[in-house]
Amino acid sequence: MDLTNSPTTHMKTYQNYINGRFTPSAGDGAIEVLNPSTGDVISRVPESTASDLEMALDAAHAAQPAWAKRPAIERANLLRQISAKLRENVKPLAQVIVEEQGKTLGLAEVEVNFTADYIDYMAEWARRIEGEIIPSDRAGETIFLFREPIGVVGGILPWNFPFFLIARKMAPALVCGNAIVIKSSEETPNNAFEFAQILSQTDLPPGLINILSGRGAGVGQALAESPRIGLISFTGSVATGSRIMASAAKNITKVNLELGGKAPAIVLADADIDLAVNAVKSSRLINSGQVCNCAERVYVHEKVAAEFTEKLAAAMSSARCGNPLADPGVDYGPLINKVGFDKVDALVRGAVTQGAQVVTGGTRADVSPGGHFYQPTVLAGCRHDMDIIQREIFGPVAPVVSISSLEEAVALANDSEYGLTSSIYTRDLNSAMKACREIHFGETYINRENFEAMQGYHAGWRKSGIGGADGKHGLHEFLQTHVVYLQT
Ligand code: NAD
Repeated sequence: MDLTNSPTTHMKTYQNYINGRFTPSAGDGAIEVLNPSTGDVISRVPESTASDLEMALDAAHAAQPAWAKRPAIERANLLRQISAKLRENVKPLAQVIVEEQGKTLGLAEVEVNFTADYIDYMAEWARRIEGEIIPSDRAGETIFLFREPIGVVGGILPWNFPFFLIARKMAPALVCGNAIVIKSSEETPNNAFEFAQILSQTDLPPGLINILSGRGAGVGQALAESPRIGLISFTGSVATGSRIMASAAKNITKVNLELGGKAPAIVLADADIDLAVNAVKSSRLINSGQVCNCAERVYVHEKVAAEFTEKLAAAMSSARCGNPLADPGVDYGPLINKVGFDKVDALVRGAVTQGAQVVTGGTRADVSPGGHFYQPTVLAGCRHDMDIIQREIFGPVAPVVSISSLEEAVALANDSEYGLTSSIYTRDLNSAMKACREIHFGETYINRENFEAMQGYHAGWRKSGIGGADGKHGLHEFLQTHVVYLQT
């Protein structure tokens, strides 16, 4: 594969991918993409306009009806061409992701491989998109329930797992017989255009997947409020999710929202402390702590709080952050941009002002002046009412709250506007089951790190989202039901 934007050599200019072709934007606006490790401009991409969007929607509408009529297994086989090509290009694709997003090379390679596996997993559903036959109350009547594609889907992406999230939307959409128009994040559009390069090397009919770059308030909003889509599938922040719902409301468009999280980790007195320390450390360092499902606040029983905090601080402070392209051995990279850095720093400073103690870290990591690096940070003595416990941090910071019982921990965990994931560490099955019954989150991990499986169902409660992704239930988000009453 020719990845002409070799990350270390020259800046690349990309074009939108519409109807199977790289297409110049109708406007002349451009977005400069920065490397978060250095602050260098690495590419220039279109700031797409409403007419670019209309062109993409025209292509999707032209392609979708014939696609929907093909046997699902043919759709699946074409999807498998994409995953095969991705596997041939793991390393160059990972480089592109790292350069604009800042995760480690190892994690970026995992992201590309997982993306390929996810496409294959969704392709497996082709033979299982099943309807139902329901007994009627009338003699001679049969009631059929068909599962049908929605038509054209809009997808809007964040920057933290930008490559995988293309597949999380595109693969179920296409296997179900839909076409899709995707808007990438303005922070990380390059990998989406490289995904388009892969698409252009397959036999996938043109127009089924169209990829645009652009601003949220511009082409993003235009996509969400377009009457020409039947579903808007969005992953990103709660604030934007709320705006997207308002946009979708104009046409009563179905929304599928995967939003922010503030996952509590509950560590009871009988927990395997080393296991809990490792899991929380991984949560706070993977992707520099910028992961929606990862533990963001830790409630530790007072009997083990000192031991847990000391071990967590030791584990965190031994982690090395740096520019993952310059030094492939680093444990984590920069935060995505200055806004992200300032938010993390303000939350840490605010917590300290409110009485938290910095056990380790607590400020910028001195890696490179143009990058947004933050030290691995552990804060002890946090209280539930602090902003750092209430708001999404999205950085390598672990705030620890001491609790005196499981009941107290569950009550505090539930007292949040977020409801995505949660975790509990205990050796007592009764405590684990009691927590599961009483904790109000879409996902709970018991004695293991926070990460969902593709065959599960990733769906936030409260402000963390509507609907969900993955597995059979995630697939069904991309279908609509048609009931037929046949009187014979
Ligand atoms: P964001 O909400 O700032 O932006 C996400 C996307 O929305 C971008 O493409 C942006 O251009 C677009 N956008 C912004 N305003 C818009 C508007 N008015 N109309 C339409 N589109 C608009 O989020 P982000 O900073 O890119 O991502 C981080 C957030 O994503 C975090 O809150 C994280 O928890 C969340 N996230 C959730 C999941 C999940 O599965 N629940 C997964 C990954 C990330």
